[in-house]
Amino acid sequence: MRKPMIAGNWKMYKTPKESLAFLDAFLPLVEGHTRDEIIICPTMSSLAFVVEASEGTNVRAGAQNMHWLNEGPYTGQTSPTMLVSIGCRHVILGHSEQRLYFNETYERVNLKLKAAINHGITPIVCVGELLAEREDGKTEETLRTQVRAALRNISSSEARRLVIAYEPIWAIGTGSTASPEVAAHAHAIIRNELASCCGEQTAQNTRILYGGSVKPENISELMAQDGIDGALVGGASLVPTTFANIVHY
Ligand code: 13P
Repeated sequence: MRKPMIAGNWKMYKTPKESLAFLDAFLPLVEGHTRDEIIICPTMSSLAFVVEASEGTNVRAGAQNMHWLNEGPYTGQTSPTMLVSIGCRHVILGHSEQRLYFNETYERVNLKLKAAINHGITPIVCVGELLAEREDGKTEETLRTQVRAALRNISSSEARRLVIAYEPIWAIGTGSTASPEVAAHAHAIIRNELASCCGEQTAQNTRILYGGSVKPENISELMAQDGIDGALVGGASLVPTTFANIVHY
């Protein structure tokens, strides 16, 4: 069975002090909750603080990106070994904001995915189509291409820990969520492509999260869909009570 995952992507919000204040309020609200895996992905400057403050709780901290090498002359980057050294075991890869504003490519996501797997870090790989691609009837082609490129040369045993997040770009930060049916259809395409890349077993074991304007008001109907195994939440993960309400869908 796929254990649902609810992950918060804090993007470029919250100082360490604000992150710790969030946890003070949030941790008691989700104490003892075991139905879902709960992940919070703060900025790099808050990550070690969040890892430490969530130790011994049911919340785990993840990074929003990483390099694929262990060290080197790469200004501004953080390596997989550095994440592991502070106790961080989750990472978001290929977020559309990285692709749109920082030229992230699926070739690099593939290298990062392999590095995450080799270091025992759970990768949350984001895929999703632009509004123009959806309007041109290219959603399926886009999703299949993105999944295939990210998973190039990844074996089924390597893909064991993989998590995919379907984040239609037109739904991110816009308030217009994909309908549960539209999201479920996209998840089915992604799962089908996973099966052709890494086999049916991997496709059945891989959690596919939905992301894009998830709120307490729409989480239940999304989670009720077959094949939606959790959520990657942006804006609504920044407020403790709101994010806790999402966790308790
Ligand atoms: P919003 O929930 O703010 O739409 O952001 C979604 C997202 O990009 C999560 O990674």
